Amino acid sequence: MKSLTADPGPLRVLVADDEQAIREAYIAVFGEADVRDGLEAIQELRKRLFSGTQSAAAPGRRLGFDPTICAGAEEAVEAVRRAVAAGRPYPVVFLDMRMPPGHDGAWAAARIRELDAEAEIVICTAYSDVDPANIGGLVPPHDKISFLQKPFHPHEVRQMAVALHSKWRAERHVARLAYFDSLTGLPNREHTMSRLAEVLRQSEAASREAALLYVDLDNFKRINDTLGHAAGDELLRQCAARLREAVEALGGGSGDLGRLGGDEFVVMLPASASREDAQASAEAVIAHLRNPIQIGHHEVVVTPSVGIAIAPADGPDALSLLHNADLAMYFSKRRGHGASAFYDRSMSDGALRRLTIETQLRGALERREFTVHYQPQFELASGALSGLEALLRWHNAELGSVPVMDFIGISEETGLIVPIGEWVLSAACTQARQWHEQGLPFGHVSVNVSGVQFLQRDFPDTVARVLRETGAEPKWIELEITETVVMRDEAWAEQALARLRAVGVSIAIDDFGVGYSSLGRLRHLAVDRLKVDRSFISNLEVGVRDRSIASAIIKMSRTLGIGVVAEGVETFSQMLYLQEQHCESAQGFLFSRPLPLAEAEVLLRRVATHDSLSRTEKLRRIAIEPPAAEG
Ligand code: C2E
Ligand code: MG
Ligand code: MG
Repeated sequence: MKSLTADPGPLRVLVADDEQAIREAYIAVFGEADVRDGLEAIQELRKRLFSGTQSAAAPGRRLGFDPTICAGAEEAVEAVRRAVAAGRPYPVVFLDMRMPPGHDGAWAAARIRELDAEAEIVICTAYSDVDPANIGGLVPPHDKISFLQKPFHPHEVRQMAVALHSKWRAERHVARLAYFDSLTGLPNREHTMSRLAEVLRQSEAASREAALLYVDLDNFKRINDTLGHAAGDELLRQCAARLREAVEALGGGSGDLGRLGGDEFVVMLPASASREDAQASAEAVIAHLRNPIQIGHHEVVVTPSVGIAIAPADGPDALSLLHNADLAMYFSKRRGHGASAFYDRSMSDGALRRLTIETQLRGALERREFTVHYQPQFELASGALSGLEALLRWHNAELGSVPVMDFIGISEETGLIVPIGEWVLSAACTQARQWHEQGLPFGHVSVNVSGVQFLQRDFPDTVARVLRETGAEPKWIELEITETVVMRDEAWAEQALARLRAVGVSIAIDDFGVGYSSLGRLRHLAVDRLKVDRSFISNLEVGVRDRSIASAIIKMSRTLGIGVVAEGVETFSQMLYLQEQHCESAQGFLFSRPLPLAEAEVLLRRVATHDSLSRTEKLRRIAIEPPAAEG
């Protein structure tokens, strides 16, 4: 884009007048003149009107005009048509009002305005019967129509041409900034959206469909990161040029393409006849982009993913159509690069997130994206630390930190939980061994086991192998299995738990109480502890029913000789109630959130020094000076 201060070159003007003598006068005015005369006169005038205005052209440089002279209205309109098509519109057009026997200046002005919204049009007339307001109404906008009274002075014509020329340039500059992307020259997001809205209005009025292609470059970020931003910019410029070619080849115009930002573009197909048509267009766009692109010394290949949405079915308005085309693009990208996909109703933001999680989950272990946080458990009678629960954490470059509940289900459905679960077990065992070697008292480390893992027939063997490989002692490890998993296949549970007991690890039943299983049945199972589900604990103060369930579980487990941990203890009164009920241990935000490894170790060291304190003092110190919360 040319800057406002750059040399504009000769000033292009178009003139239409039916009189030979006047055409010759125009040629004389524009042909011989040094534009500086005009510029200086304007500057002089400006100086008198406003003080300190800058010079519009460098002094001493001779500027010229580049006039096109026509003898009639039709010829002038044709000249504008050609100029616009060639991308070199006329900034200023002088039209004689009366040009018999052909059309008059008002007719030409109206036609020219249809072809070029930005041209500055000057109507020249010797008659006082022309009302400027009338023509301004016919050829909007008012401020782009001027009037010149014949006979005119050469200076007057030149000054007018120069002044309108710089007005035209200034307005175009502002318009370009507002509507076009400065890197690629394509319509920017706002402009694209209003154009899309217009396309949708037109296709609705004509009761036909329109298609929208959402184009996203698959490997742009990598190229940008490896070759640098300058190369990235160059790549985007070249891709924009390729897209222009593609759109032209499809018979589209320059308004049918836009850049939404980054490496995202849209192509509008206002008269797409069918889905096959849209699909073929998407393939043509992909093919155009796919050819190698030279960036400096590098040859790069860019593949785009394209999402296709069809109006009106896939979105009644521009925004929803764009959103759905975007979703389709993402689904296409997830399935593989360089392809296209149609939007369909099963694609939603939720489904997209799921798909993204699933894709990112594959490879997360290799990319070392998992960590384990540890949440301590305390004995309510003594205030001593009894163990820590290992809780999986996932941080992914694309998704950020993903809550466990958002990916555990997906990892179970895909079977990925088996290697991930083994990794957690192995990490916890390794940690336990290190703490043991450092002389830090940690009690035990509890590891959550998914139903999918537990139902694997070789699960007990896997546990034994991991213990062996990590050098952890079985007594340090407790496996947490949820109540519902144990009850799903009681025969297997009995057998598996017995084998795990033989390996030497202890077993806790997690989220106990929600499955309403009878405590009596637990007698047959080799279970060491129950974890009372958080839902009962959080309702201790208010829910009579939950309170009695919690105290029944605590009492029964004491009778059965099974340990009890209360999960999710958040308040002092919950803790006091649990102490009254002689609940063995507790875990919850009141004492500590799950902690990253380094903070868990700080806690273990601090707990070790509290050894000689009273129970109340220990619990008070833990609860009142909690270590920094989980980030
Ligand atoms: P869970 O085993 O019942 O773990 C306790 C959950 O309760 C943890 O959530 C913990 O952060 C949260 N919590 C602890 N104290 C409080 C409290 O006072 N108030 C409240 N509101 N919440 C508390 P997290 O870490 O988000 O884990 C959620 C669930 O994800 C776990 O529930 C467990 O079922 C599963 N999970 C976590 N890590 C693993 C893993 O390594 N393997 C498997 N299979 N599942 C895991
Ligand atoms: Mg648990
Ligand atoms: Mg639980």
